[in-house]
Amino acid sequence: MSDAERKMQFLFQLRQKGVTDARVLSAMEKVDRGDFVRGHFADRAYDDMPLPISCGQTISQPSVVGLMSQALNVQPRDTVLEVGTGSGYQAAVLSHLARRVYTVDRHRSLTRAAELIFTRGGYSNITVLTADGCFGLPEQGPFDRILVTAAAEDPPGPLLAQLKIGGSMVLPVGQSDHVQSLIKVTRTEQGFDYEELMPVRFVPLVEGLAAD
Ligand code: SAH
Repeated sequence: MSDAERKMQFLFQLRQKGVTDARVLSAMEKVDRGDFVRGHFADRAYDDMPLPISCGQTISQPSVVGLMSQALNVQPRDTVLEVGTGSGYQAAVLSHLARRVYTVDRHRSLTRAAELIFTRGGYSNITVLTADGCFGLPEQGPFDRILVTAAAEDPPGPLLAQLKIGGSMVLPVGQSDHVQSLIKVTRTEQGFDYEELMPVRFVPLVEGLAAD
């Protein structure tokens, strides 16, 4: 299959799974998922499946990345926080939709690898930090949008506190060994509105920094 055919098929799969937002599709067309997948799995980079990355983590399925980005409804002037850098793929997609993206992971080896890919790829509006994302980034917040790509039992309080009024957060909630729910939390003047979006399965949000 030629590169062009592979790209067409990739976008076709996304549309079939419900990714219809033109800005999200265009962002996903610009980011080569192959840059974020290494080793034996490199030839599966354009298939709609999650794949293993280092540190026992996974790069999410492209259609889930698309549906989450679409649900987050990122605006061009937004500052976005992503918790769970992993491979860096989701952050790269967000970087085409937002003004600035902060992405954090508890594994230093993952943030280092992602940073290298961002530098090489010329992604100049992404800041990568090694941190426990359960606490968010109080110094860089508040944020217009927050995306969490690891499952918590409940939305972490510090992340809710770092959402702007009118801002929203998309995150999987539920126990790690069960099917989880992707939810969208919107901060209003009065409090928070919750909306359930779809069943998903993510690795758990783990407290504290990892050794690697
Ligand atoms: N968004 C990623 C996939 C994320 S996998 C991608 O596009 O490839 C989930 C990631 O969340 C893992 O890398 C894991 O290390 C990270 N994670 C889990 N708990 C965390 C925490 N408390 N703070 C920051 N990152 C965390």
